[in-house]
Amino acid sequence: MASPTASCLICARATHDKYCDYHCKSFDKLVSGYNFWKRALGEISWEDYLTKLLELQETGSSIRDIIEKELQIQ
Ligand SMILES: [Zn+2]
Repeated sequence: MASPTASCLICARATHDKYCDYHCKSFDKLVSGYNFWKRALGEISWEDYLTKLLELQETGSSIRDIIEKELQIQ
């Protein structure tokens, strides 16, 4: 069984999940953006979606941290 406490993959704050509350919010935004993209523009892989977001100027730095981590995990 996994330990009940873990640390955020990005900032190492204690968390019960792979991200802390702060980074979880950014991750949730990414996931809802992904679902929106698939509805509006058609099927895209999670990895392609993240890569495209990284190319956009308007992608914020907290989102970029998550994207880079997610791409490493893949
Ligand atoms: Zn964090």
